[in-house]
Amino acid sequence: MQISKRAKQVTGSLTLAIDAKAKAMIAEGVDVVSFGAGEPDYDTPKHIREAAIAAMERGETRYTPSSGTLALRKAVCEKLEKRNGLSYEPSQIVISSGAKHSLYNTVCAILEEGDEVIILPPAWVSYPEMVKMAGGVPVYAKCDENNRFAVSADAIRSVVTEKTRAIMLNSPCNPTGEVIPYEILLEIAKIAKEYDLWIISDEIYEEFAYDGPAVPSIATLDEETKGRTILINGVSKTYAMTGWRIGYLAAPQELAKAIGNWQSHATSNPNSIAQAAALAAISGPQDCVGEMVAEFDERRKIMQGMLQAIDGVNCPLPRGAFYCLADIRGLLGKSYNGKVITTDDEFAAVLLEEKAVAVVPGSGFMAPGYIRLSYALGRENIVKGITRIAEFAKELV
Ligand code: PMP
Ligand code: GLU
Repeated sequence: MQISKRAKQVTGSLTLAIDAKAKAMIAEGVDVVSFGAGEPDYDTPKHIREAAIAAMERGETRYTPSSGTLALRKAVCEKLEKRNGLSYEPSQIVISSGAKHSLYNTVCAILEEGDEVIILPPAWVSYPEMVKMAGGVPVYAKCDENNRFAVSADAIRSVVTEKTRAIMLNSPCNPTGEVIPYEILLEIAKIAKEYDLWIISDEIYEEFAYDGPAVPSIATLDEETKGRTILINGVSKTYAMTGWRIGYLAAPQELAKAIGNWQSHATSNPNSIAQAAALAAISGPQDCVGEMVAEFDERRKIMQGMLQAIDGVNCPLPRGAFYCLADIRGLLGKSYNGKVITTDDEFAAVLLEEKAVAVVPGSGFMAPGYIRLSYALGRENIVKGITRIAEFAKELV
């Protein structure tokens, strides 16, 4: 029985695997503190849940247009106009089953076999895999480890070849929390023009930028850059709606049409009730977002402060998203109860087993020697979990 080469080279999502393991341990009654998946602990706000119930009662339980309802695509256009100063037509918007799906649709629609996509590690676990799933080749432009993994235009330039088709940006970044500064966006746009590249701009953590003025989307730089950009966003993080599975993209007309066609055969429309909920989220009151982000800002300081205080750990204050990426190389090479811990993978495995704390090994994000911790959980749990990590670190010999 044959399994395709393409399928065989794909690794399952590490973030989701760790999340599933932690949730299974919790279901068995283990007191796990999970810093695993990036998932806000908040419930989806009430007005959004009510909109979903109302949609069901109205009978909005049938197929919608496969690229999403016109109402939701219009609401996305209004959001992009008001929040980002970007003007798009509803025909340039495709609603999908999560931003992950929007990203996957995008790479499927722009890549030929063997085309290269530049990824900026440390980067989200799913980027390289989805590029490979689409027949492409991920190519890595290393960010500067000694400067908080800042994105550099020179690093990008150095890996461009004639096969490069696109560059993937994620600002604020999962897992580093870095926000790409305006000057660097300008340089990236220049490179994209020079080598005729698409820019895939994953802006899912847009609202989670804590320090200084918000950085604009790269699509706002000028019309030509906008014409090369596929802007990706969604409701999972901003409105605590991870389980509803609604994401969207905004792209030049022709590409949006191709992606819509692709989706019409692959999945049809994303869930109709979830689309109604997303409409309420995007076009309704936004106070819930500000409140959640303000709380996350406090949590990031608590988590970073406690991590930094552990001997052998180094963790700068992240500027965005909701993750701390902690350098644990100072703790590697030691043992716990006779088990030698040499890698971040082993560190995470032993930590979960011995102290019931779930973290994601940095290796999954192309950052070996690091661990990623989500601070999208309550302050009490953050303190409890990091206290356990501090104990664990002390007990290493
Ligand atoms: N991009 C990044 C960087 C993410 O961390 C996530 C997290 N799930 C996503 C996209 C996709 O989110 P979703 O599919 O839930 O919309
Ligand atoms: N994106 C989140 C994370 O990185 C959720 C899990 C996933 O889809 O990868 O943890």
